Amino acid sequence: MISELKFSAIIGLCLLSGLAAHAQDQGMQWPGGKKAAVCLTYDDGTLSQLNQAIPDLNQAGLKGTFYLTGQNMVPEFVDGWRMAAAQGHELGCHTLFHPCSGNFDWVPAEYETESYTLRRIIDEARLMNQFLYAIDGKHKRSYAYTCYEKEVGGLSFVDTLSKSGLFMGARGGAAPDPPDAANLDLFDIPSMSITDEVPFEELRAYVESAIERGIPAVFCFHGVGGDYITTSREYHQRIIDYLKEREEFLWITTFVEMAEHLDLFPVEITADNSPF
Ligand SMILES: [Zn+2]
Repeated sequence: MISELKFSAIIGLCLLSGLAAHAQDQGMQWPGGKKAAVCLTYDDGTLSQLNQAIPDLNQAGLKGTFYLTGQNMVPEFVDGWRMAAAQGHELGCHTLFHPCSGNFDWVPAEYETESYTLRRIIDEARLMNQFLYAIDGKHKRSYAYTCYEKEVGGLSFVDTLSKSGLFMGARGGAAPDPPDAANLDLFDIPSMSITDEVPFEELRAYVESAIERGIPAVFCFHGVGGDYITTSREYHQRIIDYLKEREEFLWITTFVEMAEHLDLFPVEITADNSPF
């Protein structure tokens, strides 16, 4: 959880609840008085992100978050990612070898999460961070769970990851049904996976709901105008245009900046959003 209050403080808030009902905003406080945060995240470090997604974000003056893997960081991509970082985009950690469940037939036996250990996944994340440091010189990172999986060897590694000191926060999957502000976990912030198959109305409802509730809306893209799990360049641009139209209400930022903000300014537990 983002915020931990002392027992006595919680009791005090409970006692006040009858008086304070509906008196306070349930959502988080965002920079510039914005109503919600939006992060555009892109997984796996594919070529179409360098060639299409980044130029389109730059054109709109938006910053994306790119979750890179060691295996996709081939020499011919390194300069492109270094330039992306210099332009303000975030290079995030998506492990070295992209381990996932053996239930996916494309996962090599050596990289099945069922046979991974906590030590191995954390070591992979740490090494990827060192790799990224060599590219962009940044110390603050965020993490994206591969295949949205938060277990290795049948054990959750969310807690270990959050205590590792390696990351400001981590992105999961499972939106659109994000938790309320008071129940948001910095190391399991949900995202909505986007492809051409996701209707625009669904995507817009997700953002408008985030504005109403004061919570983050995080998108997860893969290929943009190419590669796989593809969003066409036209649809990507339509999403950018819509977000720009709503920018009055949206803090469109990188995941690490949003996570840092949430860590510094956790949601206030109020009478309306108290879990008790
Ligand atoms: Zn991935």
